[in-house]
Amino acid sequence: MPALPSIDEARAILLAAVCPLTPTNVNVPDALGLVLAEDVVAAQDVPGFANSAMDGFAVCAGQAGQRLRIAGESRAGEPYAGTIVDGEAIRISTGAALPAGADGVLPIELVEVDGDAVVLGEAVAPGRNVREAGDDLRAGTTVLRAGTRIGPAELGAAIGAGRMAVLAAPRPRLAVVTTGDELVEPGARLSAGQIHDSNGPTLAALAARAGAEVIGRGHAIDDPEATRAVLGEALQAADVLVLSGGVSVGPHDHVKPALADLGVRELLWRVALRPGKPTWLGERDGKLVFGLPGNPVSAYVTFLLFARPALNALQGADAAVPRTLAPLAVDVPRHPDRDECVRVRRRADGTVEPTGPQGSHVLSSLLGADALAIVPRGEGPLAAGTEVVLEPV
Ligand code: AMP
Ligand code: MG
Repeated sequence: MPALPSIDEARAILLAAVCPLTPTNVNVPDALGLVLAEDVVAAQDVPGFANSAMDGFAVCAGQAGQRLRIAGESRAGEPYAGTIVDGEAIRISTGAALPAGADGVLPIELVEVDGDAVVLGEAVAPGRNVREAGDDLRAGTTVLRAGTRIGPAELGAAIGAGRMAVLAAPRPRLAVVTTGDELVEPGARLSAGQIHDSNGPTLAALAARAGAEVIGRGHAIDDPEATRAVLGEALQAADVLVLSGGVSVGPHDHVKPALADLGVRELLWRVALRPGKPTWLGERDGKLVFGLPGNPVSAYVTFLLFARPALNALQGADAAVPRTLAPLAVDVPRHPDRDECVRVRRRADGTVEPTGPQGSHVLSSLLGADALAIVPRGEGPLAAGTEVVLEPV
């Protein structure tokens, strides 16, 4: 039997099939979580004018002890119209324009106000408490790069750069379909042999966190016609279809034949990975199909390893989530011919240790996991102290 592809080989096969979604203009306040499809350049200096960093008095540079006449006020949004000359001070608020002729600002705490005059408690050097035009951004500088995911700070910076709207990738429209006669809704009383459908909501949550718009969740019973009908409908509406279970080769696994009937081309079947070997990836007209294993940890791990980078790539972001390295705290057993994703927590000394039992049905050992440590296949345990690659969870 030919060797199964490794995690990275499988990813490369998948990513080669990704066609990024066409970007659209989105009003900046609505762009949170989207990926920029253009560079954002500052249209003007930010701030656009020299202004005060303090509430106080704008003055010409000079010595302490001077008594100056209060000649007017510069408020935020309402600058002083005149020009200040020696012997004058202008009452000024934080963010208000520095009046023409003024060099600096002395905060209210460092002056003594005496009727319509003010006595300076300290000398004022040029530039004291002044925020110069362009301190934050210079006109023409690139503030944000295409491929950046827009967080709260990026929203603010885009608006500062003068933008009303930005070109951004739409959220991939994603459907989750679970399969299996044993599944019942969360909270339902369990009859013999039944389990709660945890994968459906969990995969939807992972998808939302990866920037997708989850347009629907469906369920198919273990029947060929029912499976084909549910998958066919999901494929019409979605850019991405994420399936859990039913993908193996048992008598009650109907996903692969249904997808073949629906014209979905197989990209990959099975990966040299634990947990998550029985992973099926396919594509139809730019729509991606993830046939993930039903075991909850396998579904979770294969979503992170495959669906997450593909969703990033669809949105025009870097596919890979940055990986780090850390030494193992303890010996970890190895699989002879599959690379293993071990749920680990980080210890105070920077090493990582398994969170608990690593069975693909033990979802509870994802709790408190900081990362998946990729333990390469091999004979015997991987020794404590060996550095491993960490994939963030
Ligand atoms: P399958 O891939 O359909 O053979 O399922 C493998 C294992 O995963 C079985 O123990 C299933 O009961 C379990 N499983 C399948 N789907 C789900 C789900 N949506 N939530 C929780 N466990 C599931
Ligand atoms: Mg099943």
